Amino acid sequence: MTESLIEKAAQVIRNSHHTVVFTGAGISVESGIPPFRGENGLWAKYDPTFIELGYFHAHPKESWEMIKKVFYDFMGEAKPNPAHYAVADLERHGFVKEVITQNIDNLHQEAGSKIVYEFHGSIRELLCLRCRKKYPASEISLDELPPHCPACHGLLKPDFVFFSEQIPPEVNDLSFAAAEAADVMLLIGTTGEVMPASFLPQTAKEKNNATIIEVNPAPSAYTYKLTDIFLQEKAGEIMPELTARVLKS
Ligand code: ZN
Repeated sequence: MTESLIEKAAQVIRNSHHTVVFTGAGISVESGIPPFRGENGLWAKYDPTFIELGYFHAHPKESWEMIKKVFYDFMGEAKPNPAHYAVADLERHGFVKEVITQNIDNLHQEAGSKIVYEFHGSIRELLCLRCRKKYPASEISLDELPPHCPACHGLLKPDFVFFSEQIPPEVNDLSFAAAEAADVMLLIGTTGEVMPASFLPQTAKEKNNATIIEVNPAPSAYTYKLTDIFLQEKAGEIMPELTARVLKS
């Protein structure tokens, strides 16, 4: 990749009025979290039925045993990588208005990002399916499964979006409103395979003719259709450099 391409991307971000960052599994791979899809993805190793809503209701114990293993035992240990910190730096200096993420790993917030729309929810909280109260996951013991609500003894569910579940309307509206307002959208580690999140860049392009900057190690569904500037590189490698160039001015 040429230096001038990174510089061009930095200039576009520097001159924008409203840059939105949109991230997917690819930004967290360098934190040790495997993506869901693809050859080395979680769903190649585990049958994802356990986070299908109907199965969860019918088999909460079995479902929770897998949820604990896949999402809490190891994802909970993951730490942000340089790409997460670079995104947080851009926001801190006023160059990014919102981060929309499809990830449920909480790493943007851990890196210091403040305005984060978690399109698919997060592992951070557990939701009582009876009284709808939410609890920080850290406050609920997973020694006995499934966990129950301390208030009403209802079944607790991780507050991320399961298969066959709708995107929470509030975060959906906020995300699409951000996409409509964006004059630059910076895509990082997302390949455009998961609907309806995959429509966000298209929305930015169609509603506001936003400039689309894409950071991915390989071309994606966006690259030849929507992307204006393609930075083909791992997020953890390129994002610190891009941010440094934006802040240098
Ligand atoms: Zn409850």
